[in-house]
Amino acid sequence: HTKDNGRNGYTFFAPSMNVSAHKQLKVLTDLRRAIERNELVLHYQPKFAAPDYHLAGVEALLRWQHPELGLLSPASFIPLAERSGLIIALGEWVLEEACRQMRAWQDEGRAVPSVAVNLSPLQFSSPTLVGMVRDVLVRHRLEASCLTLEITETTAMRDAETSLDILDQLTLMGVHIAIDDFGTGYSSLLYLKRLPATELKIDRAFIRELESNPEDAAIVASIVALGKTLNLRVVAEGVETAGQREHLRRLGCDVYQGYLLGRPVEAGQLARTPLDAMPLQAVG
Ligand code: C2E
Ligand code: MG
Ligand code: MG
Ligand code: MG
Repeated sequence: HTKDNGRNGYTFFAPSMNVSAHKQLKVLTDLRRAIERNELVLHYQPKFAAPDYHLAGVEALLRWQHPELGLLSPASFIPLAERSGLIIALGEWVLEEACRQMRAWQDEGRAVPSVAVNLSPLQFSSPTLVGMVRDVLVRHRLEASCLTLEITETTAMRDAETSLDILDQLTLMGVHIAIDDFGTGYSSLLYLKRLPATELKIDRAFIRELESNPEDAAIVASIVALGKTLNLRVVAEGVETAGQREHLRRLGCDVYQGYLLGRPVEAGQLARTPLDAMPLQAVG
């Protein structure tokens, strides 16, 4: 039931491919052991900021090097981890590993200004989240401002008052908050106004046909304008072409993330790459 998705270089199986219950159970059993067996890896995708496309930070993206199935994308195991509660342990591993890597980059003198970690709905509502974040920052001697936590619009809007309370605590600590996949959820603008977020990430779905679809272009323009009004840094996800980047630049988008500027890579690859030259190569 697996299918090699050559484009991304990892094995991918979607729910639509009718993965058997047996297979799911095996994946879940394997996933429980994946942490101790050292099979999880983080890849890091750069984000570049206008006007000079300097490195603004990286996003940590989880992959699982499965012994038989190959390199698995998060879409093929995160939903299962979320449903089973295993995401709490996985999420702790991700936060720990991203902060360990950030400390290593700083010790090597690499100018990686910030690392972003994705939080699932269950992690975000976990009562141990705030304490865990504080603890990991202290242990790795990191300033809170070099950590960004990404939550989706839908996660943020669910149980608004509780979310606001958690976000206030994280923001007070100095951690940055990004609203991920923006535009795909169902936002109350009044609530968005009250959110102590620093970043708004426009979902890739609106970027894909930005140049050919006037409706997508109008939506992206209004999200950029909304972000500016609310004093949020606007990030475009999934920038794949120079045309998209130019269009976004004209709209006043602040930060660009996508295959055009850099794919997610292992930390070692990012460190070996001349980071300063990368945006220049990409804007060519
Ligand atoms: P996301 O947070 O919205 O991450 C962006 C996704 O878009 C990543 O997919 C990234 O590889 C992909 N992407 C970036 N630029 C481009 C582009 O130009 N074109 C295309 N086609 N795709 C691009 P990925 O790594 O497969 O992750 C998918 C989702 O899985 C993430 O979406 C996030 O929601 C979730 N995820 C990843 N890592 C973690 C994690 O550590 N914890 C949790 N809870 N969720 C994670
Ligand atoms: Mg994200
Ligand atoms: Mg996203
Ligand atoms: Mg997404």
